[in-house]
Amino acid sequence: MTADAELEERARKLFSGPITFLKSAPGLKFLPEPIVPEVAFAGRSNVGKSSLLNALANRASLARTSNTPGRTQELNFFDVGDPLSLRLVDMPGYGFAKAPKDVARKWRFLVNDYLRGRAALKRALVLIDSRHGIKDIDREVMKMLDDAAVSYHLIVTKSDKIKPTDLTAVEQQTAEEARTHPAAHPEIIATSSETGTGIAQLRRAVLESIE
Ligand code: GDP
Repeated sequence: MTADAELEERARKLFSGPITFLKSAPGLKFLPEPIVPEVAFAGRSNVGKSSLLNALANRASLARTSNTPGRTQELNFFDVGDPLSLRLVDMPGYGFAKAPKDVARKWRFLVNDYLRGRAALKRALVLIDSRHGIKDIDREVMKMLDDAAVSYHLIVTKSDKIKPTDLTAVEQQTAEEARTHPAAHPEIIATSSETGTGIAQLRRAVLESIE
C-alpha cells in the first residue's frame, strides 16, 4: 500500500468510529480543555458546512443537532475517536445577508478570540461554494486566519451543482488565490456531500493536519 493509501485508510477508519457532540461554546470561557488537536470548519451560511460535517462523519444528522437557530453564534465541538484523538469544531456560519451589525461583530470577536492563542487548533477548513467562488467575506476570514497564523485548507463544496469544466475553473481560481495567502494550503479539495466526491480526500487532509 502507498503512504497515501495507508493514510486514507486510517482516516476512513477514524471517521467510521465514534463521533459525538461534546459542547457548544458561546465564549472563550466555555471552551473545552485543549487536550487533543482541533480542526475547525468555517464558511458562509448555506455553504454546505453541516452537510459536509455529516458526510465526513458518515452520519445523517451530527451537525444539525447543534445547529438550531439561536445557537448559531457558538463554536460546536465534536469528539472523534475512541480513544479520543481529534476534535472537529463547527464555527458559526458568516455572511448571511440580513445579519444585524452586532451579530457580525460578535462573530468576529468570538472567532478571533478562538483563532488566536488556541495552540490545539491545527488547521481550519474554509468552505467555498463551487457556484460562487471566493467572496469578499471569505477573503476577510482568510485574512483573519493569515493574521492569526492558523494554517487553512480551502474546500470547494457542492461540486455536483456545476459542470465539470466550470468546476475546474473554480478550482484553478481558488488555487491561484490561495497562493497569495501565507497561511493557505496550496491544495484545493473539491467535495460533494451529495455524491461523496472528495470526502475520502478531505478525511485524509484532516488526519494529515493533526499528525
Ligand atoms: P450550512 O448552512 O453551511 O450548514 O449548509 P447546509 O449543509 O445546511 O446546506 C445548505 C443547503 O445546501 C441545503 O439545502 C443542502 O441540502 C444543500 N447542500 C449541501 N451540500 C450539498 C452538496 O454537496 N450538493 C448539493 N447538491 N447540495 C448540497
